[in-house]
Amino acid sequence: MAKTEFSLIDHYFARIGATREDVELGIGDDAALLIPPPGHDLAVAVSTLAEGTHFPLDAPPSLVAHRGFAAVLSHLAAATAEPAWLTLALSMPQVDEAWLRAFSECLNDLTRSARVQLVGGDTTAGPLRVTLHAHGFVPAGQAPAPSALRPGDFIYVTGTLGDAQLARLADQNSVRIPDEARRRLDHHYRQPKPPIAEGLALRGLASGAFSVSDGLASGLSRLLQASGTGADLRADSLPLSTALAENLERAGGWLLPLTAKGDYALCFTVPPASQTALELRFSDLSADCTCIGRVGSSTGIRCLLPDGTYLSPVR
Ligand code: ADP
Ligand code: MG
Repeated sequence: MAKTEFSLIDHYFARIGATREDVELGIGDDAALLIPPPGHDLAVAVSTLAEGTHFPLDAPPSLVAHRGFAAVLSHLAAATAEPAWLTLALSMPQVDEAWLRAFSECLNDLTRSARVQLVGGDTTAGPLRVTLHAHGFVPAGQAPAPSALRPGDFIYVTGTLGDAQLARLADQNSVRIPDEARRRLDHHYRQPKPPIAEGLALRGLASGAFSVSDGLASGLSRLLQASGTGADLRADSLPLSTALAENLERAGGWLLPLTAKGDYALCFTVPPASQTALELRFSDLSADCTCIGRVGSSTGIRCLLPDGTYLSPVR
C-alpha cells in the first residue's frame, strides 16, 4: 500500500470506536491482538455491502455506515453476543476524502455508542464495497441451541417486517407514501438500529434466533430444517409499519413481509415455559417483540391469510 494511503488509514480509521481494555494491539500492526474474557464463547459474523446491490449508487456514506453496522451486528445479536471488536475491509474506485470523512465519522459514532472498537482492516482499490467483521462474547452455553427447538415453541420477531424493501419501492416510485410516513420510512432505512439489546434479552431463553436480513421465511426454514420441524404463521400477527399495512397490495401482498431482505431485526423461537420471562425482559427494555406463530411438527412454512387461505413462502 502506498505511503499516502497509509496516512489516510491513520487519519480516518486509526481511532474509531470505544477504547477497550481487551485490545492489546489494534490498528497499525499486521494483526490485532485481542483478549476474549474467560468463560465466554466468541461469536463472529461478517457482512458485505456492495454498491448497486446492497445500497444504491451514490448513496450517502452515512447510509453505508449505518446499514453495514446494523447488518453485521444483527447477525451477532442472533447469537445473543455482546459486541466488542470490528474489522473493516474497504474497497473504493479512487481515494475520495469527503466520502472517507463522512463514513468514518458515522462509523465512529455508531461504534462508540455500542462500546465497539475498530481493531483492523484492509483498504484496496476496486468497486465501492464495505465488509465488516464483528466479534462479540456470549457466556459459555447461553447462546440459542437449535437442538433444543421443539414443535409448540412460539415464533417471535422484533421490530417490523418489510420496511427496507418498501423504502426501495418508494424510491423507485412504485408505491406512493404520504410525506410524514415517508420520512419515518426513510429514517428507518437510512439509520436502522441493530437489535443488540434484543439479542442480549434472548440469552438462556430462546431455542433459536436469526437475523431477518435475508428474509424471514428463508431464515426460518434454515433454522427449522435441522430439527425437521415447520412453522405455522398468521398473517394478521405479522408486525407491519402503518406505511406497509396501507400499501400491502401494491407492494406485493403478504409475500413481501415474509420474504423481503434488508430488515435488520431478529426472529427467534421460545419454548412455552420461557414465554412469560421473555416477554417480561422485552417490556423492561421497552422493546417490541411480536408473536407471529408456532413451530409445527410438519415441515415447511404455512402462513394463514386473513381470507382463510394459506401461503407457503418456503416448502
Ligand atoms: P499493507 O496493505 O501496507 O500491508 P495493511 O493493509 O496491513 O497495510 O494496513 C495497515 C494497518 O491498517 C493494519 O493494522 C490494518 O489492520 C489497518 N487497516 C487497513 N485498512 C483499514 C481500514 N479500512 N479500517 C481499519 N483498519 C485498517
Ligand atoms: Mg492492505
